[in-house]
Amino acid sequence: MTDQQTKMKILARQFGELKLKKNMSAFFPDKKNPFMWHISFKGPEDSEFQEGIYHCQMNLASYPDSPPEVMLLNESGAYVVNTNICIVGLTHYHPEGWTPGTSIEAIVTALQMLMQITTDRSGYGVIPTINSSDVKKYSDKSKVFTCKCGADHSKLFQ
Ligand SMILES: [Zn+2]
Repeated sequence: MTDQQTKMKILARQFGELKLKKNMSAFFPDKKNPFMWHISFKGPEDSEFQEGIYHCQMNLASYPDSPPEVMLLNESGAYVVNTNICIVGLTHYHPEGWTPGTSIEAIVTALQMLMQITTDRSGYGVIPTINSSDVKKYSDKSKVFTCKCGADHSKLFQ
């Protein structure tokens, strides 16, 4: 088990790294809870999601020893909102496949990748069939999405 002090150091470093990214940024929705994060990320390039900005919540209470709980908070057409998402090896449904030390950035990257995969979309929280008109509609909405955590997509990633 990672001790509390080491855990806080790991999280602080990763939070700082995410803040420097061009396509991801992290926020604290609850200033009293350093283990609950919100992360905005751009849709994957060269995909129908590329204009969108998506907002997820990660519960990192047992990270880095176990994978986080991850859910999307705005609609994308790829994931069910407010529902924990299953990604093999990277979310809490699969503690057995978890590699301690996996970065939060790697988990967000997997979320981006899985958005555009068209086959075997069978996991929890994953919308099985992508509907392109929904994707477009949600992508337009996502650009003006705001959250109580301070995320304002109209100002992010300019
Ligand atoms: Zn938020």
